[in-house]
Amino acid sequence: MTTMHPPAPFWIVKCPDCSGEQTMFSRPATTVNCSVCGATLATPTGGLAKLRGELLRPAV
Ligand SMILES: [Zn+2]
Repeated sequence: MTTMHPPAPFWIVKCPDCSGEQTMFSRPATTVNCSVCGATLATPTGGLAKLRGELLRPAV
């Protein structure tokens, strides 16, 4: 399965652990954690984030 990386400044990502949805910056400088359960949702790469959660859609 290919993870899509739409060129949007913000993404809505689904947490793999609690299924909560969270809006995050697509180019984070630090690790993004779930606001509900604290699981890691994405890690910084210097460019677009490497997602652990599922990208649902770009946030516009
Ligand atoms: Zn969670």
